[in-house]
Amino acid sequence: MTILITNGCNLNQPENKNEAEDFQYLLEQFADIKIMQYQVPGFEELSLQQKELIYYLSEAANCGRDIIFDQFYKHNLTVRKTNEAIINSYSGDKTTADFKNFLVYAKRVWFSNGIHHHYSTDKFYPEIPEDYLAELILHSDTSLFPLKTGESLDTFIARVSLIIFDKNIDNKRIVLDDAKDIVAESATNFYEGVSQKEVEDFNSKFIQPDKNKALSIGLNSQLLKENGKVVEKVYKIDGLYGKAIEKIVFCLEKAHPLAETDIQKQSIELLIKYYKTGDLKTWDDYNVAWVQDLDSRVDFVNGFIENYGDPLGMKATWESVVNFKDIEATKRAEIISSNAQWFEDNAPINNRFKKKKVKGVSAKVITVAQLGGDCYPTTPIGINLPNADWIRRDHGSKSVSIENITFAYDKAAQGNGFLEEFSYSQDEIELAKKYGSLASNLHTDLHECLGHGSGKLLPGISSDALKNYSSALEEARADLFALYYLGDKKSIELGLFDSFDVCKAEYNSYLRNGLMTQLTRIQPGKDIEQAHMRNRQLIAKWCYEKGQENKIVELIKKDNKTFVVINDYTKLRELFGELLAEIQRIKSEGDFEAGKALVEKYAVKVDTDLHNEVLTRFKKLNIAPYGGFVNPVFSPVYKEGKLINVNVNYNEAFINQMLRYSKEYSYL
Ligand code: ZN
Repeated sequence: MTILITNGCNLNQPENKNEAEDFQYLLEQFADIKIMQYQVPGFEELSLQQKELIYYLSEAANCGRDIIFDQFYKHNLTVRKTNEAIINSYSGDKTTADFKNFLVYAKRVWFSNGIHHHYSTDKFYPEIPEDYLAELILHSDTSLFPLKTGESLDTFIARVSLIIFDKNIDNKRIVLDDAKDIVAESATNFYEGVSQKEVEDFNSKFIQPDKNKALSIGLNSQLLKENGKVVEKVYKIDGLYGKAIEKIVFCLEKAHPLAETDIQKQSIELLIKYYKTGDLKTWDDYNVAWVQDLDSRVDFVNGFIENYGDPLGMKATWESVVNFKDIEATKRAEIISSNAQWFEDNAPINNRFKKKKVKGVSAKVITVAQLGGDCYPTTPIGINLPNADWIRRDHGSKSVSIENITFAYDKAAQGNGFLEEFSYSQDEIELAKKYGSLASNLHTDLHECLGHGSGKLLPGISSDALKNYSSALEEARADLFALYYLGDKKSIELGLFDSFDVCKAEYNSYLRNGLMTQLTRIQPGKDIEQAHMRNRQLIAKWCYEKGQENKIVELIKKDNKTFVVINDYTKLRELFGELLAEIQRIKSEGDFEAGKALVEKYAVKVDTDLHNEVLTRFKKLNIAPYGGFVNPVFSPVYKEGKLINVNVNYNEAFINQMLRYSKEYSYL
């Protein structure tokens, strides 16, 4: 599971982390996007072996880039290659407004790993006339375009124009509307030519060899129809995406002898074996080994992991995160995870749903060195893996917060006016400035280290019981766990912070975001669909409604502007606890109907007037609601054929990085 930044414009002023003063965090802004860069503090102090390990793992992270484009939509690579051919070879005037608009489109495609918005998953369109695209293609080096065998340039132009401009074709990547065939209507490439019913029938034939250790069926494959029959194409070295997987395996083989521990070595071997066979049992074996490797400083994620991109929540997108432990900051997370049992025992949920023994919730703060696949350029700020319920139950999970990323977010957002615009009082602003950074880091720690790992399913309840509502409810469960415990005196006893002002800062920012400011990311007239956003509105709206009678939370108008005001933090915390109990019950009992009712009532619909107001106020600030990062560049230094160092530098612009990646790592 991943945790995303609560808002593209984070507001806090973090403590100085010895970063270069003049480092440029914000690189550029276009459409609704800002491009930032992050630093990798501490990299220079790593051993040569660790640096080399990071280098090869980073190469492996880049080698899978084409996979995510293709998984998201079958024509994404065609569009990307077309855009790049134009950028690299167009001989006409590149200073016109049309060309600039075309460039914005190309950047958006890179940013979203395809032609659908990375967050809303709606198809987006270039602001150019259709015939201008044809002109661009005709005045470029036509040998660079991805023509099919025997295809004429005219046919190619017609084909690409349809993909890019037609508003009726594949206009949404993930359709979640329960009244529709969410498989057939979604543009995602996990399925091709099959209906939801056919997919469910296909999956239901799968027999789990060991019910107690359920394999993640369908995780790494595409389902499509051949000669009227549903067939499964597995992602593996001699299967689907084989050419890219082969390169990933090559890099992993280079990384293998550099592993820091025996168990890390073993986990890399298993990952390679999995990429060669596509076998889900091997995938679980790999995860069991990976979750036990707690001693390596350098760690990484590389594989088909998160299922947010599948309307049915089963198939996984490819991603990679290469990182190393931030030893100082990890101490805070360790305090939390070493008290996991206390938190579980005292959670405000029914005892039947509590784990008697919370296992191995390891927690650390990491410094990211490279992002790939579904984690690039938009990236989570926390990760909790593996996802398989039985592995979490029997072996625990690893939970990380990514602080060089949150740090970069904060730095890039300083002084943008967002906090001032949406805060009710000067007090609220001061609290956020003073404690916001610590509060949100602690929230992430609690969410990842404890929230997702807490509670249990009753015997016989399937982890898929909540279907398309499971992601939003699971994120709500983890967030509520964090919110509830931020207000517990145990947090002070443990020395996590010394004043409940930290808790207040987080409650302010959470409700402000859930009730109002996250609406900056929603187009007028649209519903909320993204799981993390649904979860935040669910919690905020539910508490607002339940607390209305006693004015626990209010929406107050001042100078024609709406503000969220919390009048009673203690009572609000009780509401968090109450909702946590209910959502835990829903998960533990697999109560689909109750889960659906909660999400549909509180998480999906948007108050139109408030939405419009928020958009108007936000627009004046001229801040892009979404953010993503370019990666640092690692270059090995050789002397007489021997590696003597790995340099890191930060001088690559977004467009250059994207063009270079496409040149150096394009295998599909
Ligand atoms: Zn989460």
